[in-house]
Amino acid sequence: MIDDTQTTRSTQRAPEQHYDLIHRADLEALAELRSANAPIFSLYLDLHPERKQAEPPLTRFKNMLRQAEQQLRPDQHTRTYRAHWNEEAEHLRAWLEEQQPLPGRGLAVLSGQSIGLWRAFRLPVPVRDRLEVADRPYLRPLATLLDEFEHYLVVLIDAGTARLIAVRLGTAEQIAEVHGYVPPATGDVVEKTGHRHDTYLHKHAKYVIERAEEIWRDQGGDWLVIGGTEEALGELRDQLPPALRERLAGELHLSPQVELNQILERVLEIARAQERKIEAQRVEDLITAAYKAELAMLGLEATLLAIVEERVRLLVVEEEFAQPGWECPSCGFLGATRLEICPLCGMTLREQPDIVEVALQRVLEQHGEIEVLRSSESRQALAAYGRIGALLRYAYTAPPSEE
Ligand SMILES: [Zn+2]
Repeated sequence: MIDDTQTTRSTQRAPEQHYDLIHRADLEALAELRSANAPIFSLYLDLHPERKQAEPPLTRFKNMLRQAEQQLRPDQHTRTYRAHWNEEAEHLRAWLEEQQPLPGRGLAVLSGQSIGLWRAFRLPVPVRDRLEVADRPYLRPLATLLDEFEHYLVVLIDAGTARLIAVRLGTAEQIAEVHGYVPPATGDVVEKTGHRHDTYLHKHAKYVIERAEEIWRDQGGDWLVIGGTEEALGELRDQLPPALRERLAGELHLSPQVELNQILERVLEIARAQERKIEAQRVEDLITAAYKAELAMLGLEATLLAIVEERVRLLVVEEEFAQPGWECPSCGFLGATRLEICPLCGMTLREQPDIVEVALQRVLEQHGEIEVLRSSESRQALAAYGRIGALLRYAYTAPPSEE
C-alpha cells in the first residue's frame, strides 16, 4: 500500500514550460492522413531566442511560403485547390500572428482544414525551419525527436528522502517526492543503530521503488536512471526489480537536494551516450544481419521493397537522407529509380520529392520502429551501404509446392 502522507505530488510546471509531448500513437495516426484535393501544410519553426531575434518567425514563414508557391505552383492547379491553398496559408499566418510571442524553442504545426487536421506542437527543443506542402503531413522532424529524446525516469535517493523526476524532450519535471520517512522501530533498540539503520534504509528504498514502479506503469518510460548518496543508492540498486533493472541507463552520484537543472544536465549526458550506443548497436546489427543474408536489407531500393511488402521491423536511416522517388497511387509500390509504370499493378507512378520521407511514414503506419542516425560515427558506418536499411519481421519463404 502506498501511503500518500509520505508523498508530495508536485508537478511544478511554470507556464513557459508547458510543452506538447510527442507520442508514438499520435505519429502513427498522423502518418495515415491523406488529402487528395487540398494541400496539407506542415510548418516547422526554429524558435531559439537568437534565431527569433535575428529573423522573426512570421517573416520566415512568409519567405518559406513564397518559395513553396514558386516550387509547387498552386496557380497551375484547380480553382478549388488554389482556394484551399490560400485559405490554409492565411489561417497559418493569422495563427502565428495571434500567438506572438511564440513559446518554446521549436514549433511544429500540421494543418489541413479540408480533412479537419490542426495540430500544433510547442517544443522545448529547436527544429529546423521548414515548410512542406503535400497531400500528407510531413512528420520526419517529429519522428526524429521522438527517437532522439526517449523518456527517462530518474530516481534520486538519500537516507531520508527521494525525488522522482521525468525527463522528456530535453526537459525535467518532478513527478513525486518522498520525505520524512519514519523508521517504524523506536525505543530500546537504539543501541543497535547500525542494524536498525540498515533495516530502515531497506524499507525506505523499497517504498521508493514502489513509487517508481507505479509511475513507470502510469506514465510509461524508456529508460531509468538511479542516483543518490552512496549507501541509499546501494539499497536502491540491490532492490531494483528485473523489469526496471533491464531499463537502467546509468547512475548519478548526486544528492536528491541539488537543483533540478543540474540533475537534468547530467541525465541528458547519460541520454546522449545511450542514444549514441543504441545507434551504433543497431547499425552493427543491421550490417551483420545483411552479411549473413538474414532478415535485413541495405540501401534505398531494397529497403523500399521491404516496406512495400510490409516486412520492416526497424528502419535505420541517416537523419538528412532525402532523395526523389516514385510511388504508386494505387497499390503503394515505392521505387527509387525512375519508372513510368508500376511494376506491380501497371498504374502510372507519381513522383515524390522525398521518397525517404514516404518510407518513414509507411513504417510508422505499419507499426515498425524507426532509428534516425544522428551521430557522425553511425552515419559513417551506414554511408557505405546506402544511408538506409531495415531489419525485417520475417524471412520470405516460398510457398510449399503442391504435390
Ligand atoms: Zn501499383
